[in-house]
Amino acid sequence: MSYNNEVFRAWLGCIQRRLEEERAVLDRLDAEIGDGDHGSNLSRGFRKVVELPVGAEEPPASLFKAVAMALISTVGGASGPLYGTLFLETGKAMGSSTEFSGQELGRCLQSGVSGVQRLGKASAGDKTMLDVLIPAVDALAASGNASAAARAAEQGREATIPLQARKGRASYLGVRSIGHVDPGAASAALIFSCLAQQGS
Ligand code: ADP
Ligand code: MG
Repeated sequence: MSYNNEVFRAWLGCIQRRLEEERAVLDRLDAEIGDGDHGSNLSRGFRKVVELPVGAEEPPASLFKAVAMALISTVGGASGPLYGTLFLETGKAMGSSTEFSGQELGRCLQSGVSGVQRLGKASAGDKTMLDVLIPAVDALAASGNASAAARAAEQGREATIPLQARKGRASYLGVRSIGHVDPGAASAALIFSCLAQQGS
């Protein structure tokens, strides 16, 4: 599988449609351990993303930077700057290349995830989107296989259920955050499910 602007556009379109479908589910997950806005926040952001003008001659790095800016300016909450940073730092790592193998994309996304860690100061096991992002991008970088990344993402999402939140709004609940899927982990898994649906 080779990733280029056309594939990335299709991926972003999938994310936008799935977020529209899952908005109420993500809001409900966030209502259980946060403030109930995660699905609404993200679907607003990705509506903006899919409306971004297409620069046919621009490399994927430019697309990712534009996606980052759209997310940072429209999503809000904790997740807006965090997902924005994911795309911003991934784009920086892409340089001027126009085509990426799965492993190359995985390595760029690893830079993005490092940016999310620096900004949010969270680690694996804190019950955040990182519990999905870290294993998913590591699987992609190692195998080049987006389906393997999506499986790792689903496992990461389910593994947040028994965790106690140590970052973000859910951490205010202390032990009462245990027993729920983290909403950011659920949205991150959706993003990798869409990546796995792109071509072959
Ligand atoms: P808010 O909590 O401001 O309402 P959202 O509801 O949009 O923002 O997003 C909440 C999600 O953001 C959480 O489920 C969690 O996955 C993620 N999150 C919160 N804080 C952090 C952090 N410091 N590092 C990584 N992810 C975080
Ligand atoms: Mg919220």
